[in-house]
Amino acid sequence: MLKVTNTLTGKKEEFQPLTPGQIKMYVCGPTVYDDIHIGNARSAVNFDTIRRYLIYSGFKVTYVMNITDIDDKIIKKAIDEKKDFHEIAGAYTQAYFEVMDKLGVMKPDIQPKATDSIPEMIQLISGLIETGHAYVANGDVLYDSTTFKTYGALSGKNLDEIMEGARVEKNQDKKHPIDFVLWKAAKPGEPSWDSPWGKGRPGWHIECSAMVRKNLGDSIDIHGGGVDLIFPHHENEIAQCEAFTQKPYVKYWLHNGFIEISGQKMSKSLGNIWKTKDALKDFRAEVLRYFFLSAHYRSGLNYDRDILEANRRGWDEFNQTFQRIEEALNGPDFSTPMDLLELRLAIDDVEDKFKEAMDDDFNTPKAMAVLFDLAREVRRVLSQSARVSPGAKSLLGEALDKLNKLGEVLGVVSSERVSIPEEVEKLAMSRVQLKQEKKYKEADEVRAKVLEMGFLIEDIDKGGAFRILPKS
Ligand SMILES: [Zn+2]
Repeated sequence: MLKVTNTLTGKKEEFQPLTPGQIKMYVCGPTVYDDIHIGNARSAVNFDTIRRYLIYSGFKVTYVMNITDIDDKIIKKAIDEKKDFHEIAGAYTQAYFEVMDKLGVMKPDIQPKATDSIPEMIQLISGLIETGHAYVANGDVLYDSTTFKTYGALSGKNLDEIMEGARVEKNQDKKHPIDFVLWKAAKPGEPSWDSPWGKGRPGWHIECSAMVRKNLGDSIDIHGGGVDLIFPHHENEIAQCEAFTQKPYVKYWLHNGFIEISGQKMSKSLGNIWKTKDALKDFRAEVLRYFFLSAHYRSGLNYDRDILEANRRGWDEFNQTFQRIEEALNGPDFSTPMDLLELRLAIDDVEDKFKEAMDDDFNTPKAMAVLFDLAREVRRVLSQSARVSPGAKSLLGEALDKLNKLGEVLGVVSSERVSIPEEVEKLAMSRVQLKQEKKYKEADEVRAKVLEMGFLIEDIDKGGAFRILPKS
């Protein structure tokens, strides 16, 4: 039975979708004014993994992630660079898609743009004005947060606390300091749309509310996003939708934690923003995913170079297991006596253990450990001999299937095997010859030369069997 920690209740709850077998899931997408940093990438990978696991568990998932393509930051950048806002949003949307593709993030079933849903936003705002939840002030439309009785329930704040925090912000038009904007009156030179309140553009919070309703309906199962979105963004989404529909908006709220850089928050002022496209130059996508999944999605995750290098080594070893199995399967049959009982047990257990970990609020570090344990057992068996019997081959084939199937749920399996250059192969063969002739010094020199070429020769047994691994 799947359990998820729900931000709304603060509890780990049994997961029961609104309609049995089906899940409506929405995750707040990027505001496309710049390249995304690895904190955004982590969020996308966390929710992609949750989605993959729900599909693996047999649910029919409809996954929506929006593109916020109209926003203060986009407009500012367009003005600074003397471009149309469409041009800025279009270019960074494209850049976002490319990065998601590289990270192996599955395409959402629906990926709406905010500017394609303006009529739905206007409809929502009109309804909120009619029912007394919103008011017009100088061409702006504001939400009267005091009219929504449970305002603050998601973030666990009470109205007084929020009022206290909001007092610093001065806005003459607001009835209360916590009221928030639904529609902004157009300023000269800014993009705008016609509305019953004059030309203007939507506020950020109403965009998501409208896109959720348009694409998934009034009530959904899962709404996700970064922990920074709980207040005010998600709090405001609830206030807008529930006041309008009189129905519960979201059953389970899931929020992922931040990435810190060497213990510090990423920020422009510290100059430590690490863009995903740069991370992808240094590390392969599967290593980044493994790093993101090495902490529970709700926890913070600390990056520094050493941690990620360690992740890379761990992942390399994991990935090489696939190659070693394939080599053993493709090799000739040998009647080598081998101890296979532990491997048999590990294969039989792996899927249950994996499910147990993931059913516990998507515990990816534990699920990864389960896969690594099976990979380690495979390597232990192959360390007895790389030349295996038909019986061992059949077991190794089963292990490979399990590792592929479950690794695919986490997106950490690479189909790409590093091809070994012919020259490296020849050198490695010549080294076997040298060792047989007891020319150990020369053999070591060959090994060093191969290492310089980026590959490591590893001896498997005393009979001259070896394998070549890419140096990591
Ligand atoms: Zn949102």
